[in-house]
Amino acid sequence: MIRPVQITFLGTSAGVPTRTRNVTSQAVAFDHGGVWLLDCGEATQHQLMRAGIKPARIERILLTHLHGDHCYGIPGALATMAINGRSEPVSIIGPVGVKELIETVLRISDTALSFPLEITELDGPRSLPRLEGWQVSAHELPHRVRCFGYCLQEAERPGRFHPDRAQALGVAPGRQFGQLQRGEAIQLADGRTVRPEQVADPRRPGRKLVLLGDTCDGTGLAEAGSDCDLLVCETTYDAAREDKARQWGHSTTRMTGELARRLRARTLIITHFSSRYTDEEPDEPSVEALVAEAALACPGTTVLAARDLWSHSIPPRDA
Ligand SMILES: [Zn+2]
Repeated sequence: MIRPVQITFLGTSAGVPTRTRNVTSQAVAFDHGGVWLLDCGEATQHQLMRAGIKPARIERILLTHLHGDHCYGIPGALATMAINGRSEPVSIIGPVGVKELIETVLRISDTALSFPLEITELDGPRSLPRLEGWQVSAHELPHRVRCFGYCLQEAERPGRFHPDRAQALGVAPGRQFGQLQRGEAIQLADGRTVRPEQVADPRRPGRKLVLLGDTCDGTGLAEAGSDCDLLVCETTYDAAREDKARQWGHSTTRMTGELARRLRARTLIITHFSSRYTDEEPDEPSVEALVAEAALACPGTTVLAARDLWSHSIPPRDA
């Protein structure tokens, strides 16, 4: 039984924290129990505590870019893991410069880690090693500094197995059941071949999550990210501030909605809101209004607004 993937928003504010929103980070919890962080702004470790996510579960930290509101939480989080005596490795993936940034802070602050730290620097788009059935690809996005978006693609799974059909064809329960369940053809003692498609439903497609960093144009992921279950995209500004958004390499509600439409995303979660959208300022759109603006550009996509410590589940496609 495959469980839903759960994404928890640890910080949803752009640039600076506010009273209700911390700077950017998201925790993606997988079926195997591991957690990957997408960005790690300052005080992400505090937010992990509030969300009840144990740092020991973190396997990977994917950084979109090295603006401080996306990465200043890393040294503190690593130091805490070391104080807690962690021994499992942590892998950090991010743009060129991330190695120097982290190693410099650890060296100058005389912080010794109790675990191996594996840092992978990205100098262009690339695929990363498959982990627990998930393939990750990094795609470059236009922003003011080098920035990446990540596409997480779950492997296909064999279709539902029907033991009655296998037995009717003369397959005895046991080893050959297992082979058929894994999608392998088998040969019976009388020489006949039984193929998995005779005894199982069609293969089940995996989920696809597209998690973007800061950008004014996510169309570089249009192909890799098409038909995604979930698109998480920064939406720093409302639609009336498109000039300002482009000037600073950010997106508006309308730009994000159009990207969701282009990707045919099933769900769009908007996040990374400018601190001007407090829901208390009468002259500024409410977050609800931002959702409505984005939704206007992507009919057919469910649009949701992230808030701190809120989780969203992505069930298996055949659930
Ligand atoms: Zn940025």
